[in-house]
This record gives sequence, C-alpha cells and structure tokens, in this order.
Amino acid sequence: MSMNLNIGVIKGDGIGPEIVTEAMKVLDKAAEKYGHACKYTQLLLGGASIDVHGIPLTDETVEQAKACDAVLMGSIGGDAKTSPWYQLEPSKRPEAGLLKIRKELNLFANLRPAILYDELKGACPLKEEITEGGFDLMIMRELTGGLYFGERRTEEIDGVLTAFDSLTYNEIRRIAKRAFDIAMKRGRKVTSVDKANVLDSSRLWRKIVEEVAKDYPEVALEHMLVDNCAMQLVKDPKQFDVVLTENMFGDILSDEASMVTGSIGMLASTSLNETKFGLYEPSGGSAPDIAGKGIANPIATILSAAMMLRFSFDLDQEADAIEAAVAQVLKEGYRTIDIMSEGKTQV
Ligand code: NAD
Repeated sequence: MSMNLNIGVIKGDGIGPEIVTEAMKVLDKAAEKYGHACKYTQLLLGGASIDVHGIPLTDETVEQAKACDAVLMGSIGGDAKTSPWYQLEPSKRPEAGLLKIRKELNLFANLRPAILYDELKGACPLKEEITEGGFDLMIMRELTGGLYFGERRTEEIDGVLTAFDSLTYNEIRRIAKRAFDIAMKRGRKVTSVDKANVLDSSRLWRKIVEEVAKDYPEVALEHMLVDNCAMQLVKDPKQFDVVLTENMFGDILSDEASMVTGSIGMLASTSLNETKFGLYEPSGGSAPDIAGKGIANPIATILSAAMMLRFSFDLDQEADAIEAAVAQVLKEGYRTIDIMSEGKTQV
C-alpha cells in the first residue's frame, strides 16, 4: 500500500547536514522503489536555531515536529571551547534544545541497537573469539526520568550537592512494556539492568519490571547489576538481546556498546513516545572536528532512517531493504575513515 510519509527533518549542526542529506537520499530511493511519497518539513534545533532565533528550540518548532509522523535528526551542538553557543547560559545552549524537545514530545524510550557486522570485525576492539559470528543487541534506555531530571540543589554554605533520583511507577512500567514488545520481535530476552543492591529506586524498578514480565511468558527476563553489565558487554556481548535500563545507566552503557561495535558512525538510534511517533538520530554527536570535510560516516543516520520506516510507519520490508543495502555496501568494501582498518588512510 502506497503511503505518504510526513517527516520532519532537523539537519542540525556540525556533520548533521552532511549525514542527514545522505539519509534523505536513501529514504527517497526506498520510497520510489516501494511506491511511497516522502514529504519533508525542515526544522531548526540546537546551534542552527540559536543562530536564527537566539534560542535552541522555539515553540513553533515543537508544534511543527508534533504535526509530523516522525522526525529525522542529525546531531546538534558544537565545540564547547570555541563555539559562541557555549558563551550563552546553559539553558540557552544547543543541548538544552535537545532535552526540551525530547520532553515536549514525551519521548521516553531510547533505542540504540549495537550490531557488529562481519565486515567490520577488524574495527572491533574485542578479541576475535568473543565476537565470532557477530552480535546484535538493543539498548533500551528510559529517557525522561532518573538523576538527569530529579531535583538538584547545591548548598553554597557547606558545599553539599544533593541530587534526587526521580522515576515514577508509570515511567518504569511503560518503558518495560515497550522493551518486552520489542523483545517479542527479536530474540525474546530482556536483561534489566539496575543497581538494586544499593539503590531503592532500582529495587522499585526491578519489582515493576517483574510485574510487566508476567504478561510476556515467551520472553526470558534476567536482572543484572549495572557494574556487571558494563563488564559483560565487553566479555560476552552475544549473551544480550534487549538491555533495558534507566536513563543514566543507559547513557553510559549505550556508549560502551557503541565502541564495542567499532565506530560511533555506525550506530542508529531512536526515541519513541507512546504513539508511533519517534525522533530518529545517529548516536554520535555533531563531530565538529570533521564537519564540512565530507568524511563523516552517514551509516548511523541511514540506519536510523530504516528504524523510522520500521517503528513509525510499520514498513518492515523497506527497512529490511535499507539494512541489506548497508550490509552490501560494507561487503563491497566502501568505508569512511572511522571504520577503515589500520594501514589505510584517505577515503
Ligand atoms: P562526537 O560524537 O561528536 O565525536 C566524538 C568522535 O567521534 C570525534 O572524533 C568524531 O569525529 C567522531 N565521530 C562522531 N560521529 C562520526 C561519524 N558519523 N563519522 C565519523 N566520525 C564520527 O562527540 P563530542 O566530540 O563529544 O561532541 C561534539 C558535539 O556533539 C558536542 O557539542 C556535544 O554536545 C554534541 N553531541 C550531540 C549529541 C546529539 O545531538 N544527540 C550527542 C552527543 C554529543
């Protein structure tokens, strides 16, 4: 069935415009092949919005994004040492726009697949016997709660900093449910990661995850402490299917998982809300060190576009086709500088 895909596009800062442009070409090609039509609405966020509006996110952009079925985004931000955006107060810097749009769009579930392609084994820092046969895991991170959003106070008098962990019953329940739904379509295993031996909030997390698991008897659930998980990701990444965790642990573990695959330039991601809407973006930043040089790896953004077709439009066949095309391109030996094996230099 032919579909009209109403897609918001945030090209972003640094390498953002370069990598998003490539992903749009791929989306257009897939749409042409399968008889769909992409309609793009350009939106400003981060540094690009500061340059035009003086703030990293306007209310108008939020409304325009809400009117789209999904948003494809490059990364935002610049070099904190040299960019004038970082002379502004923290609430007016590029990253504040990103946090705000995630909140405004109620994006509570962040999905970051970490896949090791056979062709890129050489870029993986792990021993060959660990990665033999590749791996394919999905880190699922709660995005709206935890320490990042809890109340914080600095008592100037005695220098005490107090930060609160903030997670509600519903926040934990909805992310757990999403993780089990996704596990049902994958390897039917959820590893819930917490710090239940120390934190009360983790004990609540564990209790609610177990409640949700009762509705998914086909999915195996295991609990793992975050420090152990950090070790297991490098010791035996093949053991994981869906890794479910809270905001801060997920932030750290997903970066670790990304390095295990070899390059940040390969890692897609999405943040979903309770509808089909999602914000799709590469896991890496705006890479100001290589911006404008035409050497950034567009694969993470292209794979994010494939995730968009899968999760927001239920176009699995089209998503599969893009993922297969990426695998084929790697097989044919095309590489950007970040995933070149040692010894090679220029693209
Ligand atoms: P970064 O991910 O931008 O760069 C880290 C390293 O990875 C750099 O050497 C960079 O060249 C390389 N790299 C990243 N993406 C690449 C790609 N597609 N192809 C090839 N190489 C790639 O991280 P950083 O330097 O810490 O941050 C730079 C800016 O990005 C900062 O302003 C930061 O706040 C922002 N940032 C934005 C997001 C986002 O938009 N979601 C995420 C992380 C960082």
